[in-house]
Amino acid sequence: MEFAGLLRAEEGVIKDVIFLPGTESSEIRAVLRLYMMPNMSMAGSVHSHPTPNTNPSGADLALFTRIGDHHIIVGAPYNKRSWKCYDRSGKSRVLDVLDIEFDEDEDDFQCII
Ligand SMILES: [Zn+2]
Repeated sequence: MEFAGLLRAEEGVIKDVIFLPGTESSEIRAVLRLYMMPNMSMAGSVHSHPTPNTNPSGADLALFTRIGDHHIIVGAPYNKRSWKCYDRSGKSRVLDVLDIEFDEDEDDFQCII
């Protein structure tokens, strides 16, 4: 896992990706702690794999059942086609992409450090 984050939704649209920095294996626990914060409604999670394999691992599936119903895994080489979305049971699902821009200048990109 190279990065991990949470998806925040407003009115059924995923608006924010909240990234957690670091490459520690404790990231999943950090994701869960963040999720426990009040006043945050999370649609799911996003994290990366260092390889093109975007299948969820056992630990991923355990996380999926605890946060939301949309879980994105991004595999190398981290382009538009190298990600997949899963539901809480680990089944791949279609995610309608309205306008995804991972642009650091965008207001809706939030980085918590
Ligand atoms: Zn994973």
